[in-house]
Amino acid sequence: MLSIEGEEIVRIKRSDAGKISPTAPRFAHSVVLICTLAVASWAQSQTGNAQGDADTRARQTLQQMTLDEKIGLIAGVGVGMPLGSAKQISYVGRGVGFAVGVPRLGIPTLAENDAGLGVANQGGVMRPNDFGTALPSGPNMASTWDPELIEQAGVMMGSEQRAKGMNVQLAGADNLIREPRGGRTFEYMSEDPLLGGTLTGHIIRGVQSNNIISTLKHYALNDQETGRGGLSVNMDEEAMRESDLLSFEIAIEIGNPGSVMCPYNRINGIYACENSFLLNDVLRRDWHYKGWVMSDWGAVHSVSLREGLDQESGQRSPANAYFGPKLRDALKAGTLTEDDINRSVLRILRTMYSLGLVDHLITAPQKIDFDADGKIAQDIAERGIVLLKNDKNMLPIAKSAHRILLIGGHSDVGVLGGAGSSQVNPAGGPALALPIPGQPIYHKRMYMPSSPLKSLRELLPHATITYDDGTDPARAAAAAHDADVVLVFVEQFSQEGRDMPSLSLPDDQDMLVDAVASANPHTAVILEINGPVTMPWLDKVGAVLASWYSGQRGGLAIARILTGAVDPSGRLPITFPKSVDQLPNPSLPGSEFVNDTPHKLLSEVPNAKQFDVTYPEGADAGYRWYDRNKTTPLFAFGYGLSYTKFVYRGLSVKGGSNLTVTFRISNVGGVAGADVAQVYVPVNGVRHLVGWNRVDLKPGETRTVTVVADPRLLAKFDVKGQHWQIAAGTYPIEVSAAFNEPRLTSKTRLNARTIEP
Ligand code: BGC
Repeated sequence: MLSIEGEEIVRIKRSDAGKISPTAPRFAHSVVLICTLAVASWAQSQTGNAQGDADTRARQTLQQMTLDEKIGLIAGVGVGMPLGSAKQISYVGRGVGFAVGVPRLGIPTLAENDAGLGVANQGGVMRPNDFGTALPSGPNMASTWDPELIEQAGVMMGSEQRAKGMNVQLAGADNLIREPRGGRTFEYMSEDPLLGGTLTGHIIRGVQSNNIISTLKHYALNDQETGRGGLSVNMDEEAMRESDLLSFEIAIEIGNPGSVMCPYNRINGIYACENSFLLNDVLRRDWHYKGWVMSDWGAVHSVSLREGLDQESGQRSPANAYFGPKLRDALKAGTLTEDDINRSVLRILRTMYSLGLVDHLITAPQKIDFDADGKIAQDIAERGIVLLKNDKNMLPIAKSAHRILLIGGHSDVGVLGGAGSSQVNPAGGPALALPIPGQPIYHKRMYMPSSPLKSLRELLPHATITYDDGTDPARAAAAAHDADVVLVFVEQFSQEGRDMPSLSLPDDQDMLVDAVASANPHTAVILEINGPVTMPWLDKVGAVLASWYSGQRGGLAIARILTGAVDPSGRLPITFPKSVDQLPNPSLPGSEFVNDTPHKLLSEVPNAKQFDVTYPEGADAGYRWYDRNKTTPLFAFGYGLSYTKFVYRGLSVKGGSNLTVTFRISNVGGVAGADVAQVYVPVNGVRHLVGWNRVDLKPGETRTVTVVADPRLLAKFDVKGQHWQIAAGTYPIEVSAAFNEPRLTSKTRLNARTIEP
């Protein structure tokens, strides 16, 4: 949520404790060391002599804080609110909110800003002329199945966030994509808890390597936008634990996020930010989470400190805030005590100490190396674009193709991005920023400045490459008739707050593709999409590439894949259904309450409406639902083609208490490429992804791959016993190229095993 009312950035200079370069000359080194010690001792006096480990320092600092200071730290305010009169000890950039620190004790203000696809600057209006590196969308990142690369993305965006003076990044969006029409699919990773949780954990770890905090969100079950402020997801504990909650659990284990955000929706009738089961029982008791829980912007409905919320975020009117006057009333009435506040303040302070916010203050804005950061965005895009169809090896574009026609998608200037709180104002400025009629100025349809047309012209200098904007299908089809190769760029724009009304491409683009492919079968379709779409024209076209929202250098990445400079190695992290009839909920829950008008934010329409959402698939979100029902989707989870060929051999499986699977993959084709070998095990008859390995292979190269299964994916959650339970038995083991494409199979015996949550 964003509201701009004008707030000056506050900057009070203070020397940094300094980083000593190991290569610095000796003399300089000593001077730096002396200064560092001096600053450190000054900082120590500022922190009230807080010493020792993070817990001890937090306790010491808490003892010296006044009630007002404590409330200041748990009452986060929104952008546009005054920063307060206290002298800041660190540079505070303008993000989407902040919670005022305690300068006299060395505690910096928490400066919060979105999000997981780069440092957001919604519509480019929050910080005019301020840019960030726009990463590809969540599904594009997840299609890489590459945790190390995704961690680099986290390192990169965390460094940009820090460079802009913000020390809390609202990044690590880990909601399961169980509803493919979800408007924030482009922010999330996957429908699978292991893949989504693992990659989100790595994003967080990367962000936090910059001595800033990453906020895992939206915990939990905020899996659709329609009516998100009022709906209640009703799900039994076993199903939750085995799906959405497991994903968060894995992300927390890997990433250790400083904070977790509770969302707008209710779960089993109780708002997420006052849901003691989720916040106290699961998060803290079972997962031993030590950070703090902050609310989403405007998601608080009571002073729910005892229910597990620590910080209200984005207060717009402190006079009406829960963590403000209402909290003080509760103190007076004795329904809450100062100890309730202390517990939350301690969690925040402890996290700030342990993640280095206090010892590594941000002193001034830093320069950003957009070229280096852009390369990371490009690398992800290239590894996360998925080749879905390639009849008669239509791609890569043959050297003999002289006349190439690009159609639609503004592919002459850039690639599409999603909108909402995660929107990045891309480095170099957007190629296009179109207002959305009827919506505020910070909602824009933006195109990243990376033109597929320009990149193709550079990569194919001998071809004649032309562009048609696709607004007139008959004209486009006539132009297509004479081309050697036609590339149609279709778009599915999405924004936070609004789900897709259907899985069809909007604006008659299906008709456009049909007309063009009817005129020329050498047509490749490039999907610039939020999430899965249907493809009624699939049989008519030669090739299909899912490029998702491909980010800062998406046009270049697409061109490099189309021309064969790079082998397509993305594999789907979400199932593409044949039609909505294959979905567990063919009709989007809550859509019956929505009086849809083209540009309305659907989340806002029925906000007051308290309706129930049930997910018939329960724990079997995504491909598990198809497996359970023995149905075949349009494109399966894990699927993706390559320009080369991989062969799997030599499966050996070790069972017992742990499952270890070893096999060999060879690249037997003619070009270098990467494959993602996936291991599935049916549990109670439904396949679960239990591990994977992505391998880069040169032509002729063979690698031996070992996958150790996460035992929770082999188990059921026993609600009565409150633990995971693997049932003893013989289990089929599959090494696959997609969930329904086993390449090697075996069986093994697993012992009964109990795993604590
Ligand atoms: C979104 C959050 C975001 C927050 C602050 C909310 O509308 O749901 O994901 O972090 O705004 O911008």
